Amino acid sequence: MNITIIGITDEQTTCDLCGRTELRSTVILGDEDRTEIGRYGSVCAGRVLSENQGRKVTGVLDMARKAEMVRRSYVMDAFGRVIRHLKAGDVAKANWERAQGKRWHGYIRPDEIALDAKVLEYVKARHREATALNWVDWYAANK
Ligand SMILES: [Zn+2]
Repeated sequence: MNITIIGITDEQTTCDLCGRTELRSTVILGDEDRTEIGRYGSVCAGRVLSENQGRKVTGVLDMARKAEMVRRSYVMDAFGRVIRHLKAGDVAKANWERAQGKRWHGYIRPDEIALDAKVLEYVKARHREATALNWVDWYAANK
């Protein structure tokens, strides 16, 4: 398994590995599918990465900040596409984009998690509406 840096957050200030508290931020590590495996202080993140790669990994904090900037811009692009699809009335495409965005870039920040939840709620509501409409049509045609 290849462990990678997904990003960095100041939302969690406790290391998942050693339990140290009151950190300024935690580095978010993920597996090769970018599924989050933990949030660690930079020292522990460096230790986990070094062990995984079989060499000493340094500059973790800088790498994490860069990764976070890249991740954030991808997330903003993905949400931009979600909104465009919603405006065009294509709920299925919007939902696909939000799921892909989540899978490839992770939704880490509270605003990203909130927006994702809002879109999902809307998609579900539209799906229920569509299902109800289909049923009404079916009933009208078959009664
Ligand atoms: Zn730690």
